[in-house]
Amino acid sequence: MKKKLAALFLCFLMLLLAGCGSGIKQEDYDALKATSDSLQSEKEMLESEITALQSEHGDLLNENTGLQSENATLQSENTDLQSEKKQLSADLQTKSSELVSVKDKYASYKKKMKPYEEAAKSEANQNDEKATAKSTPEPETSAPETETQPETEPQTEYVEQVWIPNSGSKYHRDSSCSNMKSPTQVSISEAERMGYTPCKRCY
Ligand SMILES: [Zn+2]
Repeated sequence: MKKKLAALFLCFLMLLLAGCGSGIKQEDYDALKATSDSLQSEKEMLESEITALQSEHGDLLNENTGLQSENATLQSENTDLQSEKKQLSADLQTKSSELVSVKDKYASYKKKMKPYEEAAKSEANQNDEKATAKSTPEPETSAPETETQPETEPQTEYVEQVWIPNSGSKYHRDSSCSNMKSPTQVSISEAERMGYTPCKRCY
């Protein structure tokens, strides 16, 4: 078993040596060297890139912590604003309920005032009617004045005038009755008040 294995290994070694001796040429070696060099430079580039990325990562981590603290302040601000909003909406609710009650009050007040307003309106209309009535009545007031004048004139016209003598107790219709000398003309009522009686000849 061991011999077989050792023989196999020997055979492999011989094959390898044969390959090295005849197979590896200078060109292949140069190509492999160039590949190795380019791989080396690529590795260096990648390493520098890795350090760059690592520093960038550190920056991003710092930025992240900054943003996280900022986020924390914003969140606390947000909770403040939300509580403020809650307070404001509660205020709004009370204000709107107040508004409703004020509206109700105004409606009932308007309801109460309606008859007074209507009364005032009708009064205003009546005043307007009075004002228009007052502007036209001039011919009505002047008409009765002209009517009263002819009534008083006939009364004075129909007062009977009589003649009374300077001496005697009779009044006369005729101024030349009983040979009167310069008799005085007075109204019949005045003559009777002065005690004169009607003359039997001319009355
Ligand atoms: Zn007489």
